[in-house]
Amino acid sequence: MYYNANSIIYYNGDYIHPKTASGDIYSQTLHYGNGVFEGIRAYKTKTGTRIFKATEHYKRLQYGTEVMHIPCPYTIDELTDITYKLLELNGLEDAYIRPIITTGANMGLGSSQESNLIIQCWEWGKLMGDQLLKVRTSSFQRPNPKSCFVDAKVTGHYINSILARNEASASGHDEAILLDMNNNVAECSGANVFIEKDGKLYTPPKGHIMPGITRTTIIELCNEVGIPVEERHFSLDEMKQADNAFFTGTAAEVVGLKSIDDYNFPKPWESTLGFKLMHLYKQEVLGERTTNLSKAV
Ligand code: PMP
Repeated sequence: MYYNANSIIYYNGDYIHPKTASGDIYSQTLHYGNGVFEGIRAYKTKTGTRIFKATEHYKRLQYGTEVMHIPCPYTIDELTDITYKLLELNGLEDAYIRPIITTGANMGLGSSQESNLIIQCWEWGKLMGDQLLKVRTSSFQRPNPKSCFVDAKVTGHYINSILARNEASASGHDEAILLDMNNNVAECSGANVFIEKDGKLYTPPKGHIMPGITRTTIIELCNEVGIPVEERHFSLDEMKQADNAFFTGTAAEVVGLKSIDDYNFPKPWESTLGFKLMHLYKQEVLGERTTNLSKAV
């Protein structure tokens, strides 16, 4: 699914076939989840292949390596250039890109001072599809921000997401909403959440969530086109009185919700702000919007 006979990955300076890559079985990433990764998309646009917000994604990767004390001897420009070259070698224009920095051998708990850069890419549709999602409240909470850097994409953190996702699937749901340690709505297993109420959008503030690059793009788009949006905490009860809700993420893009637990969102998706933003987001990633977005949110 992720590669074929002609696929190429980047591995520590070499462009090789994924099957010829070998990893260290004593790697701290394998044993303790100490690695940092990104999820990026490239789109086929009228002016060629464009990696959407490459700088923002690679800045987040670098931030993750800094807080985890993992060496990352690449600049953002180098990472971006490698990624464009990789897309070209794979003949991909529309692609999902997965860079990961893995750590070297160390069975102790201090970060290994050896690291590897691997970048893979493959064709991937919208992660959660186009259907409205039936979601449930997870029995798992987002981690206490004092237990780890919740805003860094560290491989080990995703155990929390996997638990929530598995629980949702087991009860016949598409996805999970996780609350934070204070019982406020935080996010989905791999995407951010917005709710719509009386013509205004609300999304949880930074602090207990992964501050998504798509979330920022959506807020920028709202500011530009005059959709009122506020970053503030809200409870599950408040979410269950919303007119509508949607998720945002690089892999998921913008996807609407049908229900949460036994509450069906009453506003038809096609008449929601989320629906409008889903289309604006598509235009934005394809570079088909004429006005520039403000950088400040
Ligand atoms: N929350 C979590 C837990 C995620 O894993 C992701 C995906 N990186 C997001 C939100 C959305 O982030 P982004 O828009 O940067 O892809």
